[in-house]
Amino acid sequence: MHGVSDGAEEKGREGFRRRFHPEVDAARWSDWRWQVRHRLGDAQALGRVLTLSEAERAGLARRGGGLPVAVTPYYAALMDPDDCQDPLRRTLLPVGDELRRAAGESEDPLDEARDTVAPGVIRRYPDRVVILATGVCATYCRYCTRSRLVGGRVHAAGHWDQAIAYVAAHAEIRDVLVSGGDPLMLSTRKLDTLLTRLRAIPHVELLRIGTRMPLVLPMRVTRKLVAMLKRHHPLAVSLHAIHPAELTPEAGVALARLADAGIMLAAQTVLLAGINDSVETLRALMRGLLRNRVRPYYLYQCDPIPGSGHFRVAVDRGIELMAGLVGHVSGYAVPRYVIDAPGGGGKIPVGPVTLVGRDAEGVLLKSHLGEIYRYPDPPEAKRSL
Ligand SMILES: *Cc1c(COP(=O)(O)O)cnc(C)c1O
Ligand code: SF4
Repeated sequence: MHGVSDGAEEKGREGFRRRFHPEVDAARWSDWRWQVRHRLGDAQALGRVLTLSEAERAGLARRGGGLPVAVTPYYAALMDPDDCQDPLRRTLLPVGDELRRAAGESEDPLDEARDTVAPGVIRRYPDRVVILATGVCATYCRYCTRSRLVGGRVHAAGHWDQAIAYVAAHAEIRDVLVSGGDPLMLSTRKLDTLLTRLRAIPHVELLRIGTRMPLVLPMRVTRKLVAMLKRHHPLAVSLHAIHPAELTPEAGVALARLADAGIMLAAQTVLLAGINDSVETLRALMRGLLRNRVRPYYLYQCDPIPGSGHFRVAVDRGIELMAGLVGHVSGYAVPRYVIDAPGGGGKIPVGPVTLVGRDAEGVLLKSHLGEIYRYPDPPEAKRSL
């Protein structure tokens, strides 16, 4: 009886705590380190709180080498214990399909290894870099594009000196995206050290942090963390958000703290089959993000990592879904749909085709309602007459 469908979400989490952690009071439950220590990571632990399906059992039975399994008690309490198709559940619980390989899949689909210019530094664009600050996350998304790196299989710590030296030596770099893994898994003090050192580089203008923490472990966003982040402005947080059910009151508090500290909040969403690939779900997610002062930024086509076939949505369907957003909801609620090009071509925007023709008088445009309009834009030759 700890489902979230009864509308009493606080009660749902509260009920989960009382039932599975009766010795733990609300303050302990809200301690992010307690949550990290009590993550559920195998069939025995997960089977205690969820009725596992055959497919989930098969996925969990395959251990060793793969992306780890970890679910925070907080996030487990958001899942429907009796429905293995629950969207939140599908993002974190492996299923047997993960072992299936399809054409075009690769361990490093974006060829990040080729663009690794220093240990833990990926540079694909002249003016900005990604720093992999840590290899661990609070929870592990089964579709993670860096599944080859995260989960502690690659030790990311200890490379900071070289990464910082690289940024300092390249004056063209204005924007540093601190990612991983999830940088908010670092202690506040350690993250402060990293941000302070990056801030000391005169040509670095924008700092960005990529994280999923405010949604999978909102208690990580403590007042102390936010006070620290605020000292490193201009600072943006890119929030990895998948489903409107993640926007709980607890997540709302975390996001409000970040927004109140003047941190620019943007969201990145991976389009996932059976999880968020409907117009209603995407609209609810994007509107929900805006209500929390988060601007939807990217909708990603799922990267073709090994065993991702059951997550990937056809690009044509993705474009159709975008057509259900553009013009139908606030422009602020519309992310850009991008495909991070396999082989390392960067993020390439795709979307409904709107420039549908050209004639002697101008270009022909298709509106969100499918009507055709002309903008007077005569061809070059006629313009110069
Ligand atoms: C996504 C990404 C960035 C940031 O791209 P923006 O479009 O500026 O958000 C930078 N470097 C790499 C390697 C990336 O994958
Ligand atoms: S939080 Fe990000 S880095 Fe971590 S597993 Fe999920 S997608 Fe990968």
